Amino acid sequence: MPQRKVPAWLSAPLIIGTFGVLWLLERRRPLRESVEPKPAHDARNLAVAGAGAVALQVFEHPLITPLTALVERRRWGLLQRARLPEWLEVALGVVLMDYTLYLWHVLTHRVPLLWRFHVAHHVDLDLDASTALRFHFGELAISVIWRAGQVVLLGVKPLTLSVWQTCLLLSILFHHSNVRLPLEFERRLNRLLVTPRMHGIHHSVIEAETNSNWSSGLTLWDRLHGTLRLNVPQDEIIIGVPAYREPAEVGLEEVLALPFGEQRPTWLVPGDGKPLRAERTHAPQELLP
Ligand SMILES: [Zn+2]
Repeated sequence: MPQRKVPAWLSAPLIIGTFGVLWLLERRRPLRESVEPKPAHDARNLAVAGAGAVALQVFEHPLITPLTALVERRRWGLLQRARLPEWLEVALGVVLMDYTLYLWHVLTHRVPLLWRFHVAHHVDLDLDASTALRFHFGELAISVIWRAGQVVLLGVKPLTLSVWQTCLLLSILFHHSNVRLPLEFERRLNRLLVTPRMHGIHHSVIEAETNSNWSSGLTLWDRLHGTLRLNVPQDEIIIGVPAYREPAEVGLEEVLALPFGEQRPTWLVPGDGKPLRAERTHAPQELLP
């Protein structure tokens, strides 16, 4: 039986088109000023992303694709046991994958071995749609173990996995993008979905701000776990981590080599301590301009 999944003729133009539209909007209505020249920045991020795509083809594809087929055939996992109407099974599957990705994201920050790799994503001095794609190939390779657990425990079949992957890619392109949305619109959208101003706070050099807003799709998970933080004035946010502030320290080779070398204390500016921000007066759930 041919596996049912989102066809490439639909997902590929959707993803490439979204990237293109965001790329144009980033030029017309940027949210933050760029630190590095955009062409060099984007080229580097796409090179890191290319290495990541190879890792996914080598490690994820050969394991996860057959695993989802096995899950469907043998009826393994939560969703396969529940025997729901298909539309509900897929929708619930996407939501549960989104939640378990929230948990994985927290782990990539909390477990030192995983942080070595995830920090390669966070050292970017600018945040835009290309950052959404620049994950270290090592992080993507290791994440296959988590993905296998998600698939087997939740009962994720090929169709559900492909719908989730497409939604996730669209979502991360959007919320990493450097697009200035009308504030009221973004506030409304943010009740449901992660938005650019919200995710910018997760990429702040202030440790307490990075340790918030872990969601990748629905904001519900940050709300439930009390990790939602919106009350940071956007023009005060500096993107990146304190340990690596120089463009020369975050070039292509440096980023790829980062997990394998000695780690600097991430949250300290070399020779200058920890960046801090004054206590905020706005409620944590208030998205500021
Ligand atoms: Zn992160």
